[in-house]
Amino acid sequence: MDTAHIPGINAQRLLTDLTHLSQIGAGPDGAVHRIAGNKADWAGRDWIDKTMRVAGLHSYYDDTGNVFARRKATEGPWLLIGSHADTVPGGGHLDGAYGVIAAMEVLRTLHESGHPMADHVETVAWFDEEGVTPESNGGLVGSTALTRDPHADELVGYLELHVEQGPRMEASGLELSPVTGIVGVRRYTLAVRGQENHAGTTPFHLRADAGRVASRMAAALRDICTEADPFSIGNAGVIEFGPGAANVVPGTARTEIEIRAGQESTLDLIEAELRDRLAQVAVEESCTAALDRTSAKPAAQFDKRLVDTVDDVCRSRTEACEPLLSYAGHDASVISTRLPTAMLFVPSTGGFSHSNREHTPDKQLVLGTQALLDAVVRTSALLLNTRGDDVILAA
Ligand SMILES: [Zn+2]
Repeated sequence: MDTAHIPGINAQRLLTDLTHLSQIGAGPDGAVHRIAGNKADWAGRDWIDKTMRVAGLHSYYDDTGNVFARRKATEGPWLLIGSHADTVPGGGHLDGAYGVIAAMEVLRTLHESGHPMADHVETVAWFDEEGVTPESNGGLVGSTALTRDPHADELVGYLELHVEQGPRMEASGLELSPVTGIVGVRRYTLAVRGQENHAGTTPFHLRADAGRVASRMAAALRDICTEADPFSIGNAGVIEFGPGAANVVPGTARTEIEIRAGQESTLDLIEAELRDRLAQVAVEESCTAALDRTSAKPAAQFDKRLVDTVDDVCRSRTEACEPLLSYAGHDASVISTRLPTAMLFVPSTGGFSHSNREHTPDKQLVLGTQALLDAVVRTSALLLNTRGDDVILAA
C-alpha cells in the first residue's frame, strides 16, 4: 500500500483521550463502572459528544443513546467506525473505549489534514453493548437499534477496532489481527434419568448411573468439538447430580453445555455429534437422556472484501499479523446483518478483559489506530466506488 498520502494519527492525543475516558466511572482500583444508562455512562457519552464538537465536528445523539459524529454539512454516504462506550461492572479501560477513542482520532486526523475521505466517515459510540442491566435484554442495544433505523441506508459499511480480550494474539506474537467473523454460540441443557440406588450394594454393572452419563458427556465435549473443527470450543460449565449424596447412585443428572464456532455448519455438526454420543452413552449406562438447545446466537461472517482490505493494510504496517476469529460477541456481529462489516484486533496483555487488569502496550494501541485510519481510507474508496457514487478520492 502506498502510505504517502495517508495522514498519521496524533498518538499523544489518542493516549491522553483514552486516559481521560478511562477515569470517567473509575473506582479506586482502576476498574471502570460505566454500566449502560448509569450516571458515569452518560458522563462518558457527554464527554465524547463535547470532544467532537470542540474539534469542529457535528456530533449528535440518536433516540437510543448512541453518539455519532461527522463533518458538518456533509451529505454522505458515510463509512461508520467506532465501538461501545459502556462497560461491565468493574470492567477494563480498553474494552469498547479503545475503539471509540480510536475512531474519534481517525476522524479528527482526516478532518484536520483536509483528507477528502473526511467527508465520508462517521464515528459512533454505541449504547449498551454489554447487556448487564435487566432492561437491556442481552445487550447490543444501540447497534441493534441502528439496523432498524433509516440512517443505516446512508451508511456504506462498518469497521470496529477492539482489544482481543483473550490470549491468542500475545501467545503468537501478533500485533494486529483482521477479524474474519464472530463465533456463533449455542447453549444446551442435558438431562439424564437413571435409578437411585444403594451405592454400596449395587455393583457397577447393574447401575443406571445418571451422573456417569453426564460426566462422560462433559469429558467427551473437548474431543467432539476438536474433531468437528480445531477452531471450535466448548464448555460444560454446570453439572448437578440428584439426589446428591455420597452413598446414593445418582438417579438424575443435569449438565449445561455451551459451544462456539465460526460457522453454523460446524455448530450443526457438533450438535449432531453430541446427540449421537448421548444416545450411545445413555444406552451403555442403562439411562434415558435428552439434549435441549436453550439458546442460539448465530455466527457472523464478515465481508470478505473488507476483511481482505483490513488484512492488506495491517500487513503493510507490521509483519506480525494473522487473521483471527472473534470468540467474544461485538456490535459488529449485529451490524454485519445490515452493512458490509469487518473488525481489527490488537492484543490483550495476559489475555485479561472485563477486569481492571485489561492492558495493551501503547505502541500497539497507536499501531491499531493508524491501521484503522489506513483501512478507512482504503475501505471507503472501495465501498463508495462499488456503490457507484460520484466521489473522487485522492487515496
Ligand atoms: Zn467490547
